[in-house]
Amino acid sequence: MSNSLDGKVALVTGGGGGIGRETAKVLVDHGARVVVADLSEDAGNGTLEYIDGGDAVTFVRADVTDLASMQHLVQATVDRYGRLDVAHNNAGIEVTGPDLADVTVEQFDKVIAVNLTGVFISMKAEIPQMLAQGGGSIINTASSLGQAAIAHQSAYVTSKHGVIGLTRAAAVEYSDKGIRVNAVLPGVIQTPMIDALEETYPGFKDALLTKHPIGRLGTPHDIAEMVAWLGSDAAAFATGSQFAVDGGYLAI
Ligand code: NAD
Repeated sequence: MSNSLDGKVALVTGGGGGIGRETAKVLVDHGARVVVADLSEDAGNGTLEYIDGGDAVTFVRADVTDLASMQHLVQATVDRYGRLDVAHNNAGIEVTGPDLADVTVEQFDKVIAVNLTGVFISMKAEIPQMLAQGGGSIINTASSLGQAAIAHQSAYVTSKHGVIGLTRAAAVEYSDKGIRVNAVLPGVIQTPMIDALEETYPGFKDALLTKHPIGRLGTPHDIAEMVAWLGSDAAAFATGSQFAVDGGYLAI
């Protein structure tokens, strides 16, 4: 089976951010036509400039916490390119806070709304289109913190564990209908999200390096290539699984 994405149509949520931007580029490089979706118009347009892919790439503003917005995104994708084969549900936020008992309910709910309910809403919007056309591949961005925990990240850790559960549940329900559903679990990736954390907690990055046996942090490209493979027919028997791309983070 080929790992080409020729003829396929993909969308990437959080497509204006570090991982999403590079994933959109790699999907285009592998032959797909791609809709970049993001809450931020500036970030989304930055991705269009970065890819410079002409008609093969389009930006649509979308909010993963809003079902109507995600349904509009799927419809806009079909209107533009005729179908939806690959969905990378990748939008996420990071709130590093105090210990669990001092996290406010509002802070907790906000992270869950984007990182977990956002993935549910995204799949709820995407699956009917994939069913109507006979199949597709969904790749949800979880994290190493979907299988492990670190301090001060209770909401984030919870959300990413939830993404893995949701991925499994969707795979059990839809794999026999042609829709494969998998999760990608990045280790710590050098993106604006990590820079922001380093500003708040100087030394954060060095501490995290020790958790990556490979001796470096990841790059968005490391994740993008896994997403492209999972989206392709080369991954035809992969569903309901978690694909760690983490420099050995979860091996320790
Ligand atoms: P990033 O902050 O660079 O990008 C996230 C993007 O999501 C931003 O462009 C933002 O505008 C967008 N976004 C936020 N809320 C949204 C919403 N409601 N609707 C639509 N778009 C929204 O972050 P990143 O590092 O590229 O992270 C991407 C994903 O990878 C996230 O789910 C994150 O949790 C996960 N992840 C990141 C790392 C890492 O080290 N960077 C590690 C593991 C997992």
